[in-house]
Amino acid sequence: MRPSRLILSTGFAVLLSLAFLLTRTDAQPNTIKQIAPGVWFREGDLEHEGHCNNIIIEMKDYLIVVDANFPSGARAAMADAKRVSSKPVKYVFDTHHHGDHAYGNAVWTQAGAMTIAYQGVADEMKRYEPARWKASEKERKDVADMKQPGPQPPQQTFTDSPHVITDGTRRVEFRFFGWAHTRGDGFVYLPQEKVLCTGDAVANGPYNFTGDGNIGNWPKVVAGALKLNVEHVLPGHGPAGGREVLVGQRAFMLELHNAVQAAIKSGKKMNDLVKSENGKQLAQLQLPDNVKNWVGPSLPDQIKDAYNEITNKKPAGDLPHQ
Ligand SMILES: [Zn+2]
Ligand SMILES: [Zn+2]
Repeated sequence: MRPSRLILSTGFAVLLSLAFLLTRTDAQPNTIKQIAPGVWFREGDLEHEGHCNNIIIEMKDYLIVVDANFPSGARAAMADAKRVSSKPVKYVFDTHHHGDHAYGNAVWTQAGAMTIAYQGVADEMKRYEPARWKASEKERKDVADMKQPGPQPPQQTFTDSPHVITDGTRRVEFRFFGWAHTRGDGFVYLPQEKVLCTGDAVANGPYNFTGDGNIGNWPKVVAGALKLNVEHVLPGHGPAGGREVLVGQRAFMLELHNAVQAAIKSGKKMNDLVKSENGKQLAQLQLPDNVKNWVGPSLPDQIKDAYNEITNKKPAGDLPHQ
């Protein structure tokens, strides 16, 4: 059991990320920003609450919200949705199964919304739950207070990409490009507004959790997203940005994979790549400056996952883990 990994997987990158986050000047947690007419980006409070970001999309008669968040994040996003529009939330799209994106599902469905996700999200939940929910209950009051045996799965799933919702005023495409952060990674694309909501397949900052991931395939997934006509990238964590967020995210995973692969070829072992000192893990690999936005406290774990992936010839998320 690797408790720190489990904690990270449920969104509590808190302690590890704290030192870095305090140096970030562009983080604006709990703020809501209009990206295009009827499209709002809400930056979640990752540092204190473990929350993900949310996107609110206004349709003719209703709202679509991207990501359910943790239960407390769901309530915060719901309050902000009410602030920007009087229309009801009809759909909540889970970008993937992690607690900080999907554990609030029941909060939304109790309020009358329908949760929807790519089929892979429901499959991942079956794979990892309810073990992670039960671990999360011990860490988080909002999860314990739900008094559920496990997370509520998405009520509606799709397998064809894109899955389109349109009402004549706006076209919303739910898309799947393959396995990057999880086997279920769903994107939300607004072709007219050139907006792409990425979940955690693309982060704007050092927030890539690779334990359930496929590092070798990750750049291909982001390359798929890069084929779209995108101006606004709304990530699962970190501030909103433009295409450069996609380009940087793709480069980070390529650089990580290539650096670890080269080290293995030169005869290095795991202990050469990550050293332990006073209970702290220290990465012995340097990644180039152009990806430094993605390099942070998770680098030692990311190196280990890449090492295991390459030496076992299997995606990190396919190797035994909690
Ligand atoms: Zn995640
Ligand atoms: Zn997340």
